[in-house]
Amino acid sequence: MKRTKIAELLRTEPTNTEVLVKGWVKAFRNNQFIALNDGSCAANIQVVVDAERVDAALTDRIKFGAAIGVRGKLIESQGKGQKVEVVAEELTIFGDCNPEEYPLQPKRQTLEYLREVAHLRFRTNTFGAVFRVRHALAFAIHKFFNDRGFYYMHTPVITASDAEGAGEMFHVTTLPLENIPRTEDGEVDFSKDFFERPANLTVSGQLEAELGALALSDVYTFGPTFRAENSNTTRHLAEFWMIEPEIAFADLHDDMDLAEDMLQYVINYVLEHCADDLQLLENRLLEEEKSKPQHERSPMPLVERLRFVVENKFERLTYTEAIEILKNSKPNKKGKFQFPIEGWGADLQSEHERYLVEKHFQKPVILTNYPAAIKAFYMRLDDPGENVPGPTVSAMDILFPGIGEIVGGSQREERYDVLLQKMREMNIPEEELYWYLDTRKFGSCPHAGFGLGFERLVQFVTGMGNIRDVIAFPRYPGNAEF
Ligand code: ATP
Ligand code: MN
Repeated sequence: MKRTKIAELLRTEPTNTEVLVKGWVKAFRNNQFIALNDGSCAANIQVVVDAERVDAALTDRIKFGAAIGVRGKLIESQGKGQKVEVVAEELTIFGDCNPEEYPLQPKRQTLEYLREVAHLRFRTNTFGAVFRVRHALAFAIHKFFNDRGFYYMHTPVITASDAEGAGEMFHVTTLPLENIPRTEDGEVDFSKDFFERPANLTVSGQLEAELGALALSDVYTFGPTFRAENSNTTRHLAEFWMIEPEIAFADLHDDMDLAEDMLQYVINYVLEHCADDLQLLENRLLEEEKSKPQHERSPMPLVERLRFVVENKFERLTYTEAIEILKNSKPNKKGKFQFPIEGWGADLQSEHERYLVEKHFQKPVILTNYPAAIKAFYMRLDDPGENVPGPTVSAMDILFPGIGEIVGGSQREERYDVLLQKMREMNIPEEELYWYLDTRKFGSCPHAGFGLGFERLVQFVTGMGNIRDVIAFPRYPGNAEF
């Protein structure tokens, strides 16, 4: 007989037909009622065991966490809260679970503790929901781009270009650490290394994605990226997944429209397809926030917050306008910011971003046209603006409530001369990036793109406070367990 998943059974009418279910025991009440879950959905199915017909030696082994199979009839449920249940005719124990030793217990356990047993935490209600929602978001992202004629591009994980974020990269080498070959002047001799040159794990697939866009028009990447930044925050991982679309014949406005459409589309997809999981996560969050002071609680319950983002346009304003708002803001005047806003030109800190999003606008915000000096070399230089104190670039960051920056993007500098000059000013090695410059020499065109941090999106949608709880096995300073 073929096994049916619980998600499917719960959608079926009670037909009195024979079914086979397999899963893990969530609870066993009165030696009679098993709550069984197989991870296919948030809900359990109720299995009714007739003690007279099942061997006592077997019922004794029905413990929290045990893997079992049940063959029986699917009938209309007598109990409240479920449409159907299974009356057991035959019971199989696949894997016993000793409650004395099992690290999971049928009670609330802290997220910090569950992180230490990340190999088992999938089995909790919370993490089951998180990983189902994570899947739905990934699927929706592919669907969104595919439906719009984008091509999914796989950019390399190992790269040799040292163009961006130097110092934040993980080296990739096969050189023996205990006996590193040296050149005559004492430098590491990379000609003896695997690639015969220094290599590292990618921090972004953007530069390669641009090459694809300048032939295929619209491409996107969705892959792992690595940053060796020593930031122990609830928003940073050393290994995270990034989505990087790149669009040809497009400017900053097209880029912002794409990002906003995409975020609204994927959040809406989850609202439509993961209602039970979102409800579970919303309840978890409400429970967690009970112990927090009022001002630290979210202004809206999870599902309402997601609806709000889907239904309202994001607020768009320039960096220069944002600085004016921040300069005149209450916390700035009262000296409440750790980094006071003194004038134009400084990078915004997360306290400033949060003020704009959570206090001033109370909705997602897109900040544009940042000072050129604080942004990457490949961002397109703006024409000088009126009342703008210095040169700016066509950059945009999308800021989300509770998260801060979720997307960073820009229109790319497509003019060869302007790009070359910028690279020289910023000490970007032009010989190494000859291939990038080539696209500006041959058939260059206006183009734009952005990077969306996948885990930050999953955090926002699930309401999980720590990024380490939305990826199966988080990597961060001091931790590469599992
Ligand atoms: P932040 O200022 O938050 O560190 P960033 O400016 O370094 O972000 P980008 O280099 O623009 O970010 O990367 C694009 C996106 O990738 C960000 O908007 C964010 O969503 C995500 N991201 C960046 N760094 C991390 C990280 N260490 N862990 C998880 N996501 C990240
Ligand atoms: Mn960063």
